[in-house]
Amino acid sequence: MNPSRRPLIAGNWKMYKGGRTGVELAQGVVEISRTLGSGVDLVIAPPFTVLAAIASTIEDSSVKLAAQNFYPKNEGAFTGEISPLMLKDCGCEWVIVGHSERRQYFGESDSFVGEKVASALASDLIPIVCVGETLDQRQAHETLRVVQQQLHAFLDILARSPRAVAIAYEPVWAIGTGKVAGPGEAEEVHAAIRTWLAEKSDALAVRTRILYGGSVKPDNAATLFACPNVDGALVGGACLEAASFGAIAKAANH
Ligand code: PEP
Repeated sequence: MNPSRRPLIAGNWKMYKGGRTGVELAQGVVEISRTLGSGVDLVIAPPFTVLAAIASTIEDSSVKLAAQNFYPKNEGAFTGEISPLMLKDCGCEWVIVGHSERRQYFGESDSFVGEKVASALASDLIPIVCVGETLDQRQAHETLRVVQQQLHAFLDILARSPRAVAIAYEPVWAIGTGKVAGPGEAEEVHAAIRTWLAEKSDALAVRTRILYGGSVKPDNAATLFACPNVDGALVGGACLEAASFGAIAKAANH
């Protein structure tokens, strides 16, 4: 296996477990990480309010910390926002960028996603950049066009950076719905993404992990991870219990 594409399982906690229950969940993930060895990387993305506490919880483990969002300025009069430097200060190494909920509910455009990818990399945060089509777009056979357009906003930025980032293909119709993409549907898009990365640079295609996201559960994970271009998962609902997050990580640990 290509070591820079070791499976990565990232948990997006969304707006759940922001206090003591978050620390308990992180403790459970640490326990699971100790049973896994070095065959899989684990990243958790709790809410902002509990990041600093969880940084201490995971300190002596291989589990890494991500934020779910940030504002792409280092500091300034941006009431209510969190900067990439603040995330670094509280122990984050990763950050989710361009999640469909940010695009849908907070109006984040492709160009803003590109700006955030550049800002994350400039601050030494590793982005997990999300792309994916809606149900209408899939039914109109526009999936590859839509995903390519979303990628276009940040591929040059990735190609200029030596960092090994992750891209998450998350079909919007599969997020939180229980409708998972079939392995053939996922692999078609993942392989296309790998090809577009390779058109920029072979090294970029080799080092980038392409995660699948959208209703990944313990009982469907292994089938998805068997696809040659699926390098792990971005998990929402199933990451809120350490046991199910751990079962998905075990399925990737081959
Ligand atoms: C997500 O929010 O990124 C996600 C994939 O959610 P779920 O696993 O619940 O579909």
